[in-house]
Amino acid sequence: LSAEAEEVLDEIEEKNVDFLRLQFTDILGTIKNVSITADQAEKAFTEGIYFDGSSINGFVRIQESDMRLDPDPSTFAVLPWREDVEGGSSARLICDVINTSTGEPFEGDPRRVLKNAVDRAEEMGFEVNAAPEPEFFLFKEDEDGNATTEFGDKGGYFDLAPKDLASDVRRDIIYGLEKMGFDIEASHHEVAQGQHEINFTYDDALTTADNVATFRSVVRAIAAQHDLHATFMPKPVPKINGSGMHTHMSLFKDGENAFYDEDGQFGLSDTAQSYIAGILDHAPAIAAVTNPTVNSYKRLVPGYEAPVYVAWSDRNRSALIRKPAARTPAAARVEARFPDPSCNPYLAFAALIHAGLDGIERDLDCQDPIRENIYEFDEAKREEYGIGTLPENLGEAIEELENDEVISSALGDHVYENFVEAKTQEHKEYLVSVSEWEIEQYLEKF
Ligand code: GLN
Ligand code: MG
Ligand code: MG
Ligand code: MG
Repeated sequence: LSAEAEEVLDEIEEKNVDFLRLQFTDILGTIKNVSITADQAEKAFTEGIYFDGSSINGFVRIQESDMRLDPDPSTFAVLPWREDVEGGSSARLICDVINTSTGEPFEGDPRRVLKNAVDRAEEMGFEVNAAPEPEFFLFKEDEDGNATTEFGDKGGYFDLAPKDLASDVRRDIIYGLEKMGFDIEASHHEVAQGQHEINFTYDDALTTADNVATFRSVVRAIAAQHDLHATFMPKPVPKINGSGMHTHMSLFKDGENAFYDEDGQFGLSDTAQSYIAGILDHAPAIAAVTNPTVNSYKRLVPGYEAPVYVAWSDRNRSALIRKPAARTPAAARVEARFPDPSCNPYLAFAALIHAGLDGIERDLDCQDPIRENIYEFDEAKREEYGIGTLPENLGEAIEELENDEVISSALGDHVYENFVEAKTQEHKEYLVSVSEWEIEQYLEKF
């Protein structure tokens, strides 16, 4: 048993943990749990826990369904909303998924896909840091406890109580996150009514992806205790801002920020500029992964602070990538503004990282930054500046993914095939559905 695993066993004892949730995610980013009793913990660390992978979305075919979970002891956390409940508390451990027939990491495990991206960066001498800004809405529940789209409060950007009635909920969410080891930097009411954002400190890309998955479940669980439904759906209400998950990234080399160069444009090194160029180059295909739902494309329209056009800037909020102001060299970073919180964070980060590294390998130059409001450009002006657009819908995004060798291989064959199949199906179902809008427009007219 490793020293780290020993420590976890001690903590299980100390904190009166009775149940352990072994967690991993399917390719859609949904957290899956296998619950074990605390007395199985040692066995989980030494032998792993076996489960049937055939029932997990996009995992394996029935005939090869035996999978093993290897818990990562560094991810141990007691669940704050299951703390001190009668009969002891519950904790979680995030796991790697192992293919039992080969004994190798399962290539359909999203965490593995991100590890591959991080390994590629490491081979190039880089450590990848990432920090997300997940936004979400808090909606009321009806009497039966079902989610509505009725706002939980009436606040606006950075509003304070008493208008921001949800600040109590947000405070509880933050306490919960802190108990689970999060280092919260800031939280505020977002632009739209009922919309919130909580920022946590950057970390290495894998830890940050684990954190995003955890974040979403903590936010939902604690909101539910207040009879509110927290949603990370990208555009739950038409005609107001949707929810994004801006993703900040930097590469470190030998402990120094490789994105910083005092003499570079906006203090960015050539490495950073090539990384940006790589993301811009692959953005339409990345969108299939960072914006993976039908609804994602209702957010990516002009006028709601979400990007539509493939350009970058040092301050422009209509751009796809922004160079945020940084106080110190260590903080020099790039912010991808197109991802939304319905993505699988492991796959999304993997796609972004591979695109950026591809830009570095090909030594791509960045186009000039656009400092004007790109929403106001017409087609001629966009053409003049060489500005492309993101896909308009999920169907287009999948096509872009299919035509992009770098991003499709970033996912690995297994995830790529299952992802494209699941998303094509989702888009097809949407195409044959009839929306409320159509009923309103046509039912009485014809
Ligand atoms: N909600 C906006 C989006 O969809 C972002 C708003 C902001 O953070 N300034 O990306
Ligand atoms: Mg923010
Ligand atoms: Mg925001
Ligand atoms: Mg931001």
